[in-house]
Amino acid sequence: MLPADVVKRFEIREGERFRLADVDPGETLGLDIGKDEARDMLAAGVKRLDDLQERLYAEGRWSVLIMFQAMDAAGKDSAIEHVMSGINPQGCSVSAFKVPSLTELRHDFLWRTTCALPERGMIGIFNRSYYEEVLVVRVHNELLAKQGLPAKLVGDDIWKQRFESIRDFERHMARNGTVVLKFFLHLSRDEQRKRFLDRIDEPDKRWKFSLGDVAERQRWDDYMTAYEDAIRNTATEHAPWHVVPADNKWFTRLVVAAAIVKKLEELDPQYPKVDDTALAAMMEARKKLVEEDGGPPDGKKAKDGKGKDNKSGKDNKKG
Ligand code: ATP
Ligand code: MG
Repeated sequence: MLPADVVKRFEIREGERFRLADVDPGETLGLDIGKDEARDMLAAGVKRLDDLQERLYAEGRWSVLIMFQAMDAAGKDSAIEHVMSGINPQGCSVSAFKVPSLTELRHDFLWRTTCALPERGMIGIFNRSYYEEVLVVRVHNELLAKQGLPAKLVGDDIWKQRFESIRDFERHMARNGTVVLKFFLHLSRDEQRKRFLDRIDEPDKRWKFSLGDVAERQRWDDYMTAYEDAIRNTATEHAPWHVVPADNKWFTRLVVAAAIVKKLEELDPQYPKVDDTALAAMMEARKKLVEEDGGPPDGKKAKDGKGKDNKSGKDNKKG
């Protein structure tokens, strides 16, 4: 697994001085590892994530919201697939946000994503998010017209206002126990060209290709300007952006996995402790279960009840 200080290199907690040009999409920090080694490293991260997620779920206090934004073919889907592969599906939800429906357009721009926020104890993944509202909608102004806002509310400062709404909303989430992690998978224009060609040339990948994606590619610079401005205006201490180099998928996945593990380790969720009264009742129930069949199965004894992560290291066996 990549160490936490590597994650810090790609973490933006204070946007003011951020420049997209400072992050090389082809960056691998000099790591020269083969496919097998990258897979083993990722597997270690995924295993750690699985353990932390179980504790997050058991504790049931924090929610974790992980958002992915990127240009087409940057590897959002495969990052989600690989990084979350070891996680219990019951503790995790994935929502993809595409072109809004008519109903969604008739609500404020944070409505549809709010409905999909993770409950306490859950990890919620957004494949695209309300950030599209300051990205695609900003690049294609005609989309804003479709939202039917009262005309006098749509002025030159609409993007500034949206950034403000997003910052306020993310602070609100932080204050209410939702931890927010944002990932921008930063792909180069040249690598996108290669991946599009690959999608056209490989019969099994053709379903992923869309002519519209090539049209969007023509607006590359506008998108990069919009992304940079969005990150500058919404990177905060409690909802940091991670601008992750995306030209090498193995590296993207390692950074994403390490960033999620780092955040969950900071939260350090704990299995709930059973108090003495509840434990006594449980032991009473245990006694009855044991007596039902004349003895415990395989001579099993009860442990001290502190859960898997018994940090004291003691194992005071009872009964
Ligand atoms: P993939 O192409 O890998 O399957 P995707 O996330 O690009 O995944 P698509 O169905 O291709 O999924 O595209 C979704 C489209 O919806 C994107 O072009 C995105 O910009 C657009 N979209 C998302 N949110 C909004 C929004 N609020 N307003 C307008 N368009 C949006
Ligand atoms: Mg697409």
